[in-house]
Amino acid sequence: MCGRLQNQTAIVTGSSTGIGRAIAHRFAAEGADVVTNSRSEERANETAAEIEATGGNAVGVAADVTDYDAVRSLVEATVDSFGGVDIMVNNAGVTTVKPTEELTAEDWRRVIDVDLTGVFFGAQAAGEYMIEAETGGAILNISSIMGELGLHKRAPYCSAKGGVNNLTRTLAVEWAKHDIYVNALAPGFIKTEITDQTQEAADYTDEDIQKRTPLGEFGTLEEMAECALFLVSRNNYVTGEVLHADGGWSAYGWGYGDR
Ligand code: NAD
Repeated sequence: MCGRLQNQTAIVTGSSTGIGRAIAHRFAAEGADVVTNSRSEERANETAAEIEATGGNAVGVAADVTDYDAVRSLVEATVDSFGGVDIMVNNAGVTTVKPTEELTAEDWRRVIDVDLTGVFFGAQAAGEYMIEAETGGAILNISSIMGELGLHKRAPYCSAKGGVNNLTRTLAVEWAKHDIYVNALAPGFIKTEITDQTQEAADYTDEDIQKRTPLGEFGTLEEMAECALFLVSRNNYVTGEVLHADGGWSAYGWGYGDR
C-alpha cells in the first residue's frame, strides 16, 4: 500500500468510534501503521481488525487517557509493535451539558481529565519518545470550536478545549527545535455519539445547526480525516495552528442564520 503516510506509525486515541475511527482508517489507507485505542481492549481491537480487513496495518491497544502510566504503556506498545511513533492524535473526548450552577466537582473533573489532561499525557509521552529518538514527528490534538467560543451549559468542555488550544501552541513553540509539529483540529458539528448526546441534552435540532452553519450542513467524518491528514503531514510549514473545520460557524458573527 502506498500513500502520504508511508513508513509512518500513528497512534489515535479514542479510535473505536467517530472522528478518531475515521482518522485511524484514513491514516492506514495512506500507508501508516496505526495503533487504535479505546479504554476497552475489545473495542480497540475491533477498529484494528476493520483496518486489517481493508489491507492496512493496525493493532489495538487498550488505555484510559486519564491514566498517566497507561498512556506511557500505549506509546511503549506502539514502539514494540511498529518500531517507533511518528504521529500522535489525541482525540479521546467526553462532554457534559449542564448549567454551571448544577455542575458537581465530579462533572468538572471528568471532562477536564479526559479532554485536557488526557491530551497532555498523550502529547508528553509521544513527544518525549520523539525527542529521545531524534525522529521528529507530528502531534495532533482534537479540540473543538468550543475552545474559542463560549456556549451555555458547557463550562468544563469549553474550558478544556480552550486549554487544548493553548497547550498546542505552547508545545509547538517548545518542540519546534526537535522537528515536532504540534497542531489542533477544531471541528464544528459532526454527527457522532457526542453530538447525539449533547443535542438531546441541549434541546436543539439538526435543523437549528444547519441553519446556523454558513455551509448549511454538518461536517462529515471523512472531512475531519482529510483535515487531520493535512495537519500531520509535516510538509506545509504549519505548526501551532488551530484549524477550525466548521463550515464557517465560528467566522459567523450574527448568530442565527438566514437559511
Ligand atoms: P465519540 O464519542 O464518537 O468519540 C470519543 C471517543 O473517545 C470514544 O470512542 C470514547 O470511547 C473515547 N474515550 C472517552 N473517554 C476516554 C478515555 N478516558 N480514554 C480513552 N478513550 C476515551 O465522539 P467524537 O465526536 O468522535 O469525538 C472525538 C473528538 O472530537 C473529541 O475530542 C470531541 O470533543 C471532538 N469534537 C467532536 C465534535 C463533533 O461534532 N462530533 C465537535 C468538536 C470536537
